[in-house]
Amino acid sequence: MHGMTLDRSLAEELTRAISTSGTDTATIIAPFTGEILHELPLSKIADVEDAAAAARVAQSAWRAAGFEHRRRVLLRAHDLLLESRELLMDAVQSETGKTRGQAFEEVFQGAQATRYYAVSAERVLASHRRRAGIPLVMQTRVSFKPKGIVGVITPWNFPLSLSLMDVVPALAAGNAVVQKADNQGALSILASRKAFIDAGVPAALWAVVAGDGSEIGTAVIDCADYVCFTGSTATGTKVAERAASRLIGASLELGGKNPLIVLDDVDPAEAAANAVYACFSSMGQLCVSIERIYVQRAVAAQFTDEFVARVKALKQGAAFDYSTDVGSLTSPAQLERVQAHVSDAVAKGARVLAGGVARPELGPMFFEPTVLADVTDDMECAANETFGPVVAIHIVDSADEAIVRANDSEFGLNSSIFSGSRARARRLADRIDAGSVNINEGYRGSFSSIDAPMGGMKKSGLGRRNGREGILRFVESRTVSEATGLVTLPRSGAEFAALTGTMLVVLVALKAIGRR
Ligand code: NAD
Repeated sequence: MHGMTLDRSLAEELTRAISTSGTDTATIIAPFTGEILHELPLSKIADVEDAAAAARVAQSAWRAAGFEHRRRVLLRAHDLLLESRELLMDAVQSETGKTRGQAFEEVFQGAQATRYYAVSAERVLASHRRRAGIPLVMQTRVSFKPKGIVGVITPWNFPLSLSLMDVVPALAAGNAVVQKADNQGALSILASRKAFIDAGVPAALWAVVAGDGSEIGTAVIDCADYVCFTGSTATGTKVAERAASRLIGASLELGGKNPLIVLDDVDPAEAAANAVYACFSSMGQLCVSIERIYVQRAVAAQFTDEFVARVKALKQGAAFDYSTDVGSLTSPAQLERVQAHVSDAVAKGARVLAGGVARPELGPMFFEPTVLADVTDDMECAANETFGPVVAIHIVDSADEAIVRANDSEFGLNSSIFSGSRARARRLADRIDAGSVNINEGYRGSFSSIDAPMGGMKKSGLGRRNGREGILRFVESRTVSEATGLVTLPRSGAEFAALTGTMLVVLVALKAIGRR
């Protein structure tokens, strides 16, 4: 039976896959109701080390099995993910409090990532010839070796899709994974992992551990050959420091304070409809969600009226079907943070155009989608990520001013430009300091473009997931160069004296014919 909170016994059956030898548990609360969802078994440091040792053995065989085997297994997992979609959406909604529609986005994105890397890994990682240092005298090839164990540390907000967007390319490249799940996201991860195990991924190859971030997350970094982290900028900085101390690579997908620019040539109603989704999908608990709107004065009044009316019309509630537009925040800590940002802004003079209050009659963590005006730099929510359903509208006098203010942030993750002219928006997109720019969309254009890199500039991160970049993170390149024996390279002063003239002629000739 689907379309309901995940049954506690089923939840506890899934969580038996957590790598643990102990009996400690964490009580996980369902955001829709505040009731106990399940008891999550917690791992100890020794469990992480044991899981890593087993993963290393499993990785050796997985790597040796080759691309074709991995492709078949991952494509089967793709089908099983789709078959179990209702269960997966139940798990995601039960843990996060998001709507059915936004839970579907996670399943869609997870399946996309699985198919994409199953099919493209071999092509991207095929060994190939590169231009040799001295043509004819040498031949050079590059091949790729999986890192070994990839540590994946994931947050609670998109527990299924963000996990698969990192785990699948790591597996497709021939690695093992030791994953630290956020306690509030473990169920969605384990429910999706089951599809991969049933499809033929050895259980030991993809270990999932849970527990305190600083203890168990650190243990994961300490056993990994590479770490990819998704979470806050504060924690990401610690992860980077730990990885640096071990001289392993890291990719960091961190926070944002994402701007949306509304130009004076938009259709205000259409722009408002798209902007609402961009700000309030998953209750703004989305790294690429919009929290700042810069609207040109000529359309500001009309856009704001349309926007506010649409926000007020959003249907909010705890439903396991597609009958609601927005759901709940995920935890009491999130509710506290959102309330703190709103009351600080109001105390300092911001105007609430919509929302601004909790909705305890809907559930313990519900808060209304909130639109603020007159937000000034001294307010908490002006420059800091709220990570919730709060957006500030600012009026600007020109597109140039909008660009300057959009870029005036320590973050640079996502951004958006709405315009009646895609060509005009494209020209402005080039001036935005962010890893992604969406034109006439909030975030779904870039987020669903699984073939294109996703990541942040400035304090929004390091490295990229998705696309070629997303799998090249997980391999070491190895250059093999061989002497052909056609010409012997100079080894003595006399041999140099004989050959340098010819070699200089070669350099001049290569430049003359435009060769790289
Ligand atoms: P968080 O940084 O608190 O936690 C993320 C993960 O790190 C959790 O699994 C946590 O247990 C673990 N962790 C905590 N301390 C650790 C440590 N010292 N070492 C290793 N691991 C540790 O973040 P959160 O509150 O779960 O997620 C919200 C944040 O994540 C927001 O800032 C959001 O913007 C960001 N985020 C970014 C992306 C992206 O792709 N750029 C995606 C989703 C979320």
